[in-house]
Amino acid sequence: MAMTGLDIYKLTPKTNCKECGFPTCMAFSMKVAAGGAEIQKCSHMSEEALAKLSESTAPLMKTVVFGKGETEYKLGGETVLFRHEKTFVNKNRFAVLFTDKMSPEEVDAKIAGMKEVCYVRIGEEMKVEIAALKYSGDKDAFLALIKKVKESGLKVAFMLICEDVEVLKEALELVKEEVPIVHGANKNNYSEMVQLVRDKKLPLGLRADNLEELYALTENVQKMDYKELFLDPGCKSIKEAYVNTLQIRRTALKEQDRTFGYPSILFVNEMANGDKYMEVALSSVFTIKYGSVIVLSDMDYARALPLFGLRQNIFTDPQKPMRVEPKIYSINNANENSPVLVTVDFALSYFVVSGEIERSKIPAWLVIPDAGGYSVLTAWAAGKFSGSVISKFIKESGIENKTKCRKLIIPGKVAVLKGDIEDSLPGWEVVVGPDEAMHIPKFLREM
Ligand code: SF4
Repeated sequence: MAMTGLDIYKLTPKTNCKECGFPTCMAFSMKVAAGGAEIQKCSHMSEEALAKLSESTAPLMKTVVFGKGETEYKLGGETVLFRHEKTFVNKNRFAVLFTDKMSPEEVDAKIAGMKEVCYVRIGEEMKVEIAALKYSGDKDAFLALIKKVKESGLKVAFMLICEDVEVLKEALELVKEEVPIVHGANKNNYSEMVQLVRDKKLPLGLRADNLEELYALTENVQKMDYKELFLDPGCKSIKEAYVNTLQIRRTALKEQDRTFGYPSILFVNEMANGDKYMEVALSSVFTIKYGSVIVLSDMDYARALPLFGLRQNIFTDPQKPMRVEPKIYSINNANENSPVLVTVDFALSYFVVSGEIERSKIPAWLVIPDAGGYSVLTAWAAGKFSGSVISKFIKESGIENKTKCRKLIIPGKVAVLKGDIEDSLPGWEVVVGPDEAMHIPKFLREM
């Protein structure tokens, strides 16, 4: 169980020396208990106190790392049950399932599909992050499948799904340097599985028939001093998977029981039973409610667009606006005759507006003043996207040296600013642009 501030205080030297950056040992202890400071910041703790505290002040949910290089990902490490309480930190990752029963053509088609679904939304690359490779009885085909996917050029991390320790030994020889998740430890094989993954510190997925057995299995693995774990809440039914996933996270964070303080693996492909739209619905549910690795049967744009968009929304920090850097952006090779458009630094506004200017194929400058990261109307209402803010940015940003064109196009929603800007920007013609970004291409072409 987690220690209180008072418990921690009892172990401090109580000298109030302030070296930790806090005015008193009590203030420091309270901060540590709340998860806002690390116990190591006090260099005067005894070894014994440090050992005791490091264990009990560790985060309730462990952060587990897998993959390597550009495909390295972190999962877990969450501190709250609801996004509005603080923020979720490590976004869930989507996996696509391959099995040794698939024909070479099926595997090829799946690999090609995964390469195809890759796009950027609000500055983030959207793609499948994990290839989940399942052993279902044919060892040679399984090993060939691993080799094929590894050599396919797919930029993914791996998850090996296999309960047979001997097969896994051979499979790991092919991908152990890629730090895959090894999924398939159960009550019968967990001891050998831990021995297999311990050396390379590979994450181990645990599965059991029900929550009580999963709890006992996790305790047993922890007793072997192995804590790089994923928990599979099972998927005999959608209801069971949902209830178990919630229960695991609540047990960890509300009851402060670290036995269930690990990220999860959800096989929505099995729950959806071949229905692709059900897969999207279930993946959405588990994106919101505590799925960490979510396994689908395949990924195409019909699945990707709603899922990646939802994930991006859930895993942004609600306390920090998503912003782009305030500066001048050149679009379609803007030149000295190009007009100037202005919008706010809210990331979604920037990406929508710049995308529409690109679509028009007309060279233009897009200037983005510091508008607090808010949308156009919110920033205007907050006084952060006013006539004086825009005029000041036009004067100071250097845009007047980049273009001889003196047309400044403002968003239609803030047409009211036209007079103000013209008063403070002599020589500029302020043009009221469309209300909606989608009308920008037509507007620019006609202008
Ligand atoms: S460094 Fe340690 S002893 Fe000094 S004030 Fe902080 S907690 Fe107390």
